[in-house]
Amino acid sequence: MPDAEALSGAYHTLLSAIGEVEPRVAEATRAELADQRSSLKLIASENYASLPVLATMGTWLSDKYAEGTVGHRFYAGCQNIDTVEAVAAEHARELFGAEYAYVQPHSGIDANLVAFWAILAHHVETPALAEHGVKGVNDLSEQDWETLRRKFGDQRLLGMSLDAGGHLTHGFRPNVSGKMFHQRSYGTDPETQLLDYDAVASAAREFKPLILVAGYSAYPRRVNFAKMREIADEVGAVLMVDMAHFSGLVAGKVFTGDEDPIPHAHVVTTTTHKSLRGPRGGMVLASQEYAADVDRGCPMVLGGPLGNVMAAKAVAFAEARRPEFQTYASAVVDNARALAEGLMNRGATLVTGGTDNHLVLLDTSNYGLTGRQAEAALLDAGIVTNRNAVPNDPNGAWYTTGVRLGTPALTSRGFTVSDMDDVAALISDVLSATSARPTKDGKPGKARYDLADDVVEHVRTTAESLLSTRPLYPGLSI
Ligand SMILES: *Cc1c(COP(=O)(O)O)cnc(C)c1O
Repeated sequence: MPDAEALSGAYHTLLSAIGEVEPRVAEATRAELADQRSSLKLIASENYASLPVLATMGTWLSDKYAEGTVGHRFYAGCQNIDTVEAVAAEHARELFGAEYAYVQPHSGIDANLVAFWAILAHHVETPALAEHGVKGVNDLSEQDWETLRRKFGDQRLLGMSLDAGGHLTHGFRPNVSGKMFHQRSYGTDPETQLLDYDAVASAAREFKPLILVAGYSAYPRRVNFAKMREIADEVGAVLMVDMAHFSGLVAGKVFTGDEDPIPHAHVVTTTTHKSLRGPRGGMVLASQEYAADVDRGCPMVLGGPLGNVMAAKAVAFAEARRPEFQTYASAVVDNARALAEGLMNRGATLVTGGTDNHLVLLDTSNYGLTGRQAEAALLDAGIVTNRNAVPNDPNGAWYTTGVRLGTPALTSRGFTVSDMDDVAALISDVLSATSARPTKDGKPGKARYDLADDVVEHVRTTAESLLSTRPLYPGLSI
């Protein structure tokens, strides 16, 4: 990471200025850095953005209202926001080889909402509304909306189920995506736990969705997007790929050919803060055909764009276009594989029997633990993970029977394949030493557990020495 030493003084000055106004915020900001530095962060959706990316967010570009698009704003004086948005979009198009990039979404969920509305606007001919002279959703009266809400109820979305690794916004019922659309989901093969393209195809033939969503948050394997596109084409569906988790692996040219969603999908959405290592935010990439509809994201479903964050996206995308980012992306995958092997060598069971992306889904049942107990025990020992459902999880989405582990963050600190074997040993030590505490009436408990202090001590000490050889923001003396 670039010259952190030079930025130390600036950060000190900033933090004392913040502290003069609200000391608790300055203190929490310092404490967060200390926590990030001293824990083994294996949350698959998190990363460490570079100091230039972080610094870019802290400026007056935040103060400007700029609803609309580059060159077409609802406010005067947006020339500098135009510049940062255009630069971010240009980098995104070049980085991903996309025809069109919309960098305004504030998060991944927002990007999905923009995409859903754009696809509806583009495809839903509304014959019931033709008598009003209305062709699409961009052109509706109040009464039309009422009719259209009913009309949207007939639109269908097919996405990966939550417990197979899909995301809430891929049609999960309590999410707005499960309310806007009639939804159905595809799972994974009960034996191999792998995506079964024939099953996706037969679900698509039967259900005939408007939108086929591919992409995941907790599936430890690559997806063949060429096959997904064939399925979409066969049933006349729009293929939308949500690459929130793995966009860094696409940018870093680890996922190419059939595994690169950009040439195959009609619309692609992503976060910018996960494996892509940018600021917290979202983005939509699309073929030119969808550009005008995607551009209506703000103010259709988004509030005013965050100029400071779009600027930070531009900086992050510029970083991701450097050759070092490709080295980083392949190290992320090598590290995940090493973590998986290290765990399996020590007797762990992994969903799908391994990984070929940036994440590992550990089945906690052979330690006799729920995901929740495993997550909490690991946290006691300074290892930060999140519990996650496994396919057909017997413990449901709250307690779960899995822990998700990802390598993007530790790889940003410089962790190597042999470090990951050490990390696997620590995880195995903690989980093997943890036992589920029964409830008062003798039933197997799902939340409480016992873990000896000396194991916690040993793991913490070993983790600390490992972390000290791979410092976060080396040179930044805060
Ligand atoms: C993380 C994630 C999102 C949501 O991103 P936010 O920035 O938290 O809104 C959407 N889709 C997928 C597949 C994700 O993994």
